Amino acid sequence: MNRILLHVVIAVIVLLPLLPVTPAFWITHLNYVGLASLVVLGLVLLTGVSGLTSFGQAAFVGIGAYATAWFTTQMGWSPWLALLIALAMTFVAAYVLGAISLRLSGHYLPLGTIAWGLSLYYLFGNLSFLGQHDGIAGIQPLEVFGISLADSRNIYYLIWACVLLALWGSRNLLDSRPGRAIRALKSGQGMAESFGIDTARYKTIVFVYAALLACLSGWIYAHMQRAVSPSPFGLNYGIEYLFMAVVGGASSVWGAVVGAGLILTLKDQLQNILPVIFGQNSNFELIVFGVLMVLVLQYARGGVWPILAHWWEALTGGAGDDTRRKNPPAEAPALSQRPRPTPGSVVLQVEAIRKEFGGLVAVNDISFTLKAGEIMGLIGPNGAGKSTTFNLITGVLKATSGRVRFLNDRLDTLPAREISRLGVGRSFQHVQLLPDMTVLENVALGAHLRRNVGVVAAALHADRSIEAELLHEAAVQLQRVGLGDYLYEHAGNLALGQQRILEIARALASDPVLLLLDEPAAGLRYKEKQELAAVLDQLRKEGMSILLVEHDMDFVMNLTDHIVVMDFGTKIAEGTPEEIQTNPAVLEAYLGGIDDDLDVTPDAGAPEPGTAAGATVPVGAMAGGSSK
Ligand code: ADP
Ligand code: MG
Repeated sequence: MNRILLHVVIAVIVLLPLLPVTPAFWITHLNYVGLASLVVLGLVLLTGVSGLTSFGQAAFVGIGAYATAWFTTQMGWSPWLALLIALAMTFVAAYVLGAISLRLSGHYLPLGTIAWGLSLYYLFGNLSFLGQHDGIAGIQPLEVFGISLADSRNIYYLIWACVLLALWGSRNLLDSRPGRAIRALKSGQGMAESFGIDTARYKTIVFVYAALLACLSGWIYAHMQRAVSPSPFGLNYGIEYLFMAVVGGASSVWGAVVGAGLILTLKDQLQNILPVIFGQNSNFELIVFGVLMVLVLQYARGGVWPILAHWWEALTGGAGDDTRRKNPPAEAPALSQRPRPTPGSVVLQVEAIRKEFGGLVAVNDISFTLKAGEIMGLIGPNGAGKSTTFNLITGVLKATSGRVRFLNDRLDTLPAREISRLGVGRSFQHVQLLPDMTVLENVALGAHLRRNVGVVAAALHADRSIEAELLHEAAVQLQRVGLGDYLYEHAGNLALGQQRILEIARALASDPVLLLLDEPAAGLRYKEKQELAAVLDQLRKEGMSILLVEHDMDFVMNLTDHIVVMDFGTKIAEGTPEEIQTNPAVLEAYLGGIDDDLDVTPDAGAPEPGTAAGATVPVGAMAGGSSK
């Protein structure tokens, strides 16, 4: 959020209860908005940012409320001690429920959350020591420094202090190393794993984080209401919280406050107006909410917050907006690098690797060796099995048989995450970046394993020096590949060719010994290809080993030391570029399928007319002819 707006909002929150003209019911209403905001903020992170839908958050509010109700009334403990116990109980419950339900994919996850949401609700209602459906009454009000928070104007400050702190912490978290990993959960899980990010762990972390916020809300609620009963912790409320997140804007932390405020205010008004219109009392507001939900999903997918933020920006001309920092990140100490293998030593040894998809042999016992400081090309017509070979080396696919050795380790038994840890960086044939994240942040994701920052440190902004190192490294890699002018651009706004280059920078940020690039030059203009070739050549001089799949024959022939040619999954030739260009089997593979080849375009990114786009013009290209 923009600075000026932030100050205005904080000033309003602080001053409102102090003004004698502010009606008491406003304060009460705002207390409920604040409590809901805490729960919804958890959902913004869980559902909006990470793509994990939960209908069960109200149950965690219930754990917070019931825990403090029971420990303070039955055991006579202090509410603050009860808060610690409630948070610990929520932590355990969320951890266990998360471990079970976060494995569920697609629609099964929301269904799972409904199931345990209902279970906890019925548990509250049926346990006799929790008062069954009558609940627990006689809860004492909170007291801070001797001041009783029984008055709604007093507890207001506690609630909104918690909301502002939670917003601050959540913003900090999202804007950090663990935050980038969390932001990759929704659409980039496979990519994230390829950079060493343990996505299952981060899912559990956001799940627990959201549950703890809900618990805090329940704890305050119990002491504000002075009584608890099961109904506010049922599925209806779970749905309502989710609704608030969607309406407010589930991708921004401020969407939580906007959504909670809008929905609770609307509900209040509708409960006054609708019974008058219909002449009877019932939950008519649910019908209006249903219609509203459809409209929001149709016309404002992002919710109300992005629209408000846009208006505000138009109004103020973007003044005070600190998100558009133009300067590159500040200088910071360089990250440590892993030792490089001696030039000429064997880095990668692929031994008779094989992959079958049902009856199709996509990779048929392929073997080759790659040395330190060498660029190897893997070429062949579309469908030859090049990308599959990449995926076998990087652990995305499990080999049917064969071995992959990398320095002193075997890769074919490891998952992608571990392979990345050993020093294998990659780009993807179909670019996999996070379009809403800046170019800089996308590249910083690549450096994930090079520094460690915990969630708590990130939320408290205690990670700034490490964050500076990561961002500095990302900026250095972006400058190296020629994207230094686009650091704060959203990655989705780059041209396809630039997105491919971004992927190379991201792979470099992981400090690899071996770099696997799947069609890096596709979609690049001639001059950009030359610049890319210069970068790769420089990397080779620094001792990097590069394995390259590429359709542009000029590019491959001029750059590589060594080429392996595949056709229908089988290695048909291997040698220097000169040997390959005159190899009869290779010419046969390209020439023999000339009619087909005319239909065969590189399988990602439209090649530009007139560039030597590999398989489309194999003859000239194979003869070493230049198209430009
Ligand atoms: P290339 O990258 O050389 O164009 P691929 O490695 O993508 O080729 O594909 C090799 C063959 O394996 C193709 O026939 C393709 O259809 C098939 N293939 C690739 N991935 C899968 C998969 N996940 N399931 C089934 N078949 C696949
Ligand atoms: Mg491919």
